[in-house]
Amino acid sequence: MTSMIEFKELIPIFDAESPVIIAGPCSAESRAQTLRTAEELASAGIRYFRAGVWKPRTRPGSFEGVGAKALPWLAEVREKTGMTPMTEIASPAHLRNALRAGIFTVWIGARTTANPFAVQEIADFISSLPQGEKDRIGVLVKNPVNPDLELWIGALQRLYRAGVRRLGAIHRGFSAYGSHLYRNVPEWRIPIELKRRIPSLPLICDPSHIGGRRDLIGKISQQALDMRFDGLIIESHSDPDCALSDSAQQVTPSELSSILSSLRSSPESTAEDSLRVYREEIDIIDEELVTLLSRRMDVARRIGSLKIREGVSVVQPGRYSMLMERRVADGERLGLCPDFMRRILGVIHEESVRQQLSLRSNECETDIAGDNGVTEDN
Ligand code: PEP
Ligand code: MN
Repeated sequence: MTSMIEFKELIPIFDAESPVIIAGPCSAESRAQTLRTAEELASAGIRYFRAGVWKPRTRPGSFEGVGAKALPWLAEVREKTGMTPMTEIASPAHLRNALRAGIFTVWIGARTTANPFAVQEIADFISSLPQGEKDRIGVLVKNPVNPDLELWIGALQRLYRAGVRRLGAIHRGFSAYGSHLYRNVPEWRIPIELKRRIPSLPLICDPSHIGGRRDLIGKISQQALDMRFDGLIIESHSDPDCALSDSAQQVTPSELSSILSSLRSSPESTAEDSLRVYREEIDIIDEELVTLLSRRMDVARRIGSLKIREGVSVVQPGRYSMLMERRVADGERLGLCPDFMRRILGVIHEESVRQQLSLRSNECETDIAGDNGVTEDN
């Protein structure tokens, strides 16, 4: 278990008031695009500039960043606009190059945080630096791609033990298989637990990578502020539709300004405030429930089509009662009342059957299992 004592010497990584806003393109693509975006953001009052130089792409062949040659563009951003530039590093070589170019604030990406070998190599490199240089380094650690709080804290500990005192965390959501409303599911309870365990650690939300879509940025940002995050990191590009990476989630600097001006800052903590945090968590869980129900119905319809093709009967009474008992027992283990489980599973099952039958008759208003003894086979 992490002791807060371990992080007791943290010093602020930002000199701006909360909420801190970090903005900039997913990737630095060219000098012109980097400087144009930075100038527009600086005019909008942004003080921290992000741009990826080395991009961890899921599949080979997509844009992997322009590499070290973009670092002088970031240094130029500081000279021309006064903003603090930051970039992602995944290895000691990246960090060495960034420091040489005068970039002292960096972030560790989600895929790197998930790899303790990689984080330890970065930490060992930092340990080997002279104290003066160590003191200038600021590191924001993104959550690992998988929902593992201990792995996230482990990465922070490795850096702290290496002498990094300007530390922060970025919540960018967690990967999940299949299609979801969010590109990366927020699982808010994980960053909230991180904040509870290390209260002095600045916690920044990345609505761009959580949502994966520009229209979700405002809503996710508001939720983060309501949950007392210390800031936001938002991808912004002077021409988002032409962006070489993460085009769908980037906004122009002027769209960013209107998102930011629509956000309300949360008043001091009250009972009402805690209630809102819980309600937001309920809303998110309900959204996940809707997504899951839709996926379940989709699978039920596929089973229905398969049965039609194979001429298989839809009547499977034994299977239904077996599934029901299994789920009721699962629910009981998780503290859910058997009667509630039976009722909710009954309604879901009824709807699956209705969907399967409507495939057969090609109409929606079809009688359901209870009346005709038909049972879905799932
Ligand atoms: C990014 O910030 O552009 C990035 C690659 O993020 P993540 O590590 O969260 O996927
Ligand atoms: Mn990105």
